[in-house]
Amino acid sequence: MSGRLEKLRVELEKIGAEAFITEKPENRLYLSGFSGSTGSVVVTADQAFLVTDFRYVEQAAEQAPDFVIVNNERKAVEAIANLLKEQRVSRLAFESSVSFQTYQDWSKAFADVELLPTNGLVEKIRMYKDEAEMVIIREAVRIAEAAFEHIQGYIRPGVREIDVAMELEFFMRKQGATGSAFDMIVASGPRGALPHGRATEKVIQAGEMVTMDFGAAFQGYNSDITRTVSVGEPHPKMREIYDVVLRAQLAGLQALQPGNTCKAADAATRDLITQAGYGDAYGHSAGHGLGLEVHELPHVSAASQFVLEPGMLVTMEPGIYITGLGGVRIEDDVLITADGHEVLNKTTKELLILPV
Ligand code: ZN
Ligand code: ZN
Repeated sequence: MSGRLEKLRVELEKIGAEAFITEKPENRLYLSGFSGSTGSVVVTADQAFLVTDFRYVEQAAEQAPDFVIVNNERKAVEAIANLLKEQRVSRLAFESSVSFQTYQDWSKAFADVELLPTNGLVEKIRMYKDEAEMVIIREAVRIAEAAFEHIQGYIRPGVREIDVAMELEFFMRKQGATGSAFDMIVASGPRGALPHGRATEKVIQAGEMVTMDFGAAFQGYNSDITRTVSVGEPHPKMREIYDVVLRAQLAGLQALQPGNTCKAADAATRDLITQAGYGDAYGHSAGHGLGLEVHELPHVSAASQFVLEPGMLVTMEPGIYITGLGGVRIEDDVLITADGHEVLNKTTKELLILPV
């Protein structure tokens, strides 16, 4: 974790802050290694502290060996105030995403300290995945793909969307996932036109396509994969749409190169879908960063300002959604490398027609 703290300290120096505080679970875990549910991380120029309560002191000492563990005997905010005083911190960077309540509490308790709001300080460091993170993420992807392999033998006419969702989650948990990365999307037939159609009690019918967007949560990290399958022979229009989405996804992957902009990668998918006559039926961005959070930096969208660099991990997930008919989305998780990219997913993207 120490390399991560060094990167953060460089950023703190740039903004003239003597210390940084975060209680955001993902950033706390990223900086310290501590996976407990409460605790404040305070990083100064030469030390790092983890303020937590007695339930977590032992776990914190074990998981965060680079940190001084502070047991807050009474109120956490008082323990932090004492710490800041001891460390002679007069300018403290904090994340503008904290709640207004937290901001008020801190302003009161750290009355002598100037609070400097920051935005995405740790999140920008988190864009670049290191080896240790990639080992975990590859496993999260493997678990999701094993679940997809498994579910192909489970989906048939008469099965409900929620049965598919539960079976996917149960399988992923048996494979070591702590759970679903997010509320799973299982959208069949006309419901496929809802890009974020959560699994319902709807019964899957022969001739329908089923879009499954799901991922495994594993050791704090997430995978995020979408595949659309057909249960029996699909409507010819849906087959055509599938082909367009697949070509758009491949064009998007092609654009995921270091030095290329995220905006250009988004445009690669959008141009192809628009030329095929479905521009109005796309509507969401091509992808997003992935890691400790399911949606993190960099955005892969028409408005994104980010340039792709080696170590970034993003999704590529164009889709087409036609009201009353259905939808198709295909999503892979992609690591930007020095000479291009690596698609972490191994699962086929050819249209799978499941037997009825
Ligand atoms: Zn997804
Ligand atoms: Zn996604």
